[in-house]
Amino acid sequence: MAEHTAVEEPSATRSAHEGILRRQSARESAARTYARALPIVPVRARGLTIEGADGRRYLDCLSGAGTLALGHNHPVVLEAIRKVLDSGAPLHVLDLATPVKDAFITELFRTLPPGLADHARVQFCGPAGTDAVEAAFKLVRAATGRNGMLAFAGAYHGMTSGALEASGDAFDVRVARLPYPQDYRCPFGVGGSHGAELAARWTESVLDDPKSGVPLPAGMILEPVQGEGGVLPAPDAWMRRMRRITADRSIPLIADEVQTGVGRTGAFWAVEHSGITPDVMVLSKAIGGSLPLAVVVYRDDLDVWEPGAHAGTFRGNQLAMAAGTATMAYVRENGLTERAATLGARLLDQLRGLSREFSVIGDVRGRGLMIGIEMVEGEGEGWGVAGTGGSNGPDETGRSGGSDEDRGAAGLLGSVGLSSADDAGTAVMPGSIPSPRPASPELAVAVQRECLRRGLIVELGGRHASVVRLLPPLTITDEQATAVLDRLADAVAAVARGHGRGAG
Ligand code: PLP
Repeated sequence: MAEHTAVEEPSATRSAHEGILRRQSARESAARTYARALPIVPVRARGLTIEGADGRRYLDCLSGAGTLALGHNHPVVLEAIRKVLDSGAPLHVLDLATPVKDAFITELFRTLPPGLADHARVQFCGPAGTDAVEAAFKLVRAATGRNGMLAFAGAYHGMTSGALEASGDAFDVRVARLPYPQDYRCPFGVGGSHGAELAARWTESVLDDPKSGVPLPAGMILEPVQGEGGVLPAPDAWMRRMRRITADRSIPLIADEVQTGVGRTGAFWAVEHSGITPDVMVLSKAIGGSLPLAVVVYRDDLDVWEPGAHAGTFRGNQLAMAAGTATMAYVRENGLTERAATLGARLLDQLRGLSREFSVIGDVRGRGLMIGIEMVEGEGEGWGVAGTGGSNGPDETGRSGGSDEDRGAAGLLGSVGLSSADDAGTAVMPGSIPSPRPASPELAVAVQRECLRRGLIVELGGRHASVVRLLPPLTITDEQATAVLDRLADAVAAVARGHGRGAG
């Protein structure tokens, strides 16, 4: 299928397309999500490209919410599915052993961090990431005899009740919330390694203070890069610190790699960037090669479960296992992890260039092909500076606030006393970074809409729903990446112009 051409649609196909959309809004739940922002009726897809029932073609940087490591309908995935279909193998097998499942486990275990691969057990779950999260919680609760869970502000782990409890918008009971390090909107106002250090110290104090109100938990769950939370890569040193903190206190560490797995961030599993070995890994999305599949992988000494402790009818999806095996093998054999790292770095660089042109882009961040562009109110729109003054715009690296050194961080940790005040009378910590401008969910929606008009599908996310997200397939070519950036830049320019907030 030819890429990125918007085709004029004949009126018959257009009205069929409109009829389907009309019936969808009349018959489907008010809880539908993507369908609201993306009024597309996909009928064909290949690689990065989706064709709608109206004949229009789109470059798909949503990729099934990060599921499609190889894009749509990759030949190796189709071949693997056809092979199972043609073999006469049963498609539904509960949790019985099959050659297809055996091959899937072999391929999966071959990719795991070495410290886990040698002692791993796998539990197949109901086919969504959220069920694997539930299973992980049950497992560590059974193994430790404890109940509580540690999770992070801004986290997203799914929509079932246990997973929701651990997500950032929960009003939870059994989950204690900890700060997740981030530079742009650092909860401590310092960012960089100092922000991460403060976040780690907070975690230690919560665990070691007998009166913190947080009893020793059954586990800690974290995303190595927060996806829905706004594309926030955790610093590697902070990941190692979390590993040490949990290991020292016999708290199982659960890495939620539902979105970051299978090469997405430039390592096969994102925990590899920091070199840590989690006790438990929650995996879904790309491991099913575009079909539903979810597993929890864990160290064998945690395997204290009774038979049936985590059951479910649909845990044996043979087509998904075959598609997933083919996908993981293809990523591994074709160096797509390295490709995600190099192309992702280049895209980040180019997007940071764009952020210097448009003040409505507050921050650009990401890891590999998991990229976020945070939209903020334009300059001169009444935002205040609570920090040390100066420009709030991105620095020469495109990161807000500059490098650790630029932040005047020397002596910061030794002098956390409040020492000065800004014009509004707010006390300012020495070394603190300027407050970012207010997030703009309206501009993010506008960018998404303008992208769609230009034949580009992007995702939105973030704490304030102000982050435009790119999750292209790892197979995206250089030419396609250029087309994506051109359309995105054009969309941002149109939005900035339309709001009178043009170039900064
Ligand atoms: N964990 C993470 C990190 C996710 O990003 C998601 C979904 O986006 C989930 C868990 C839940 O997966 P599912 O939507 O398949 O239940």
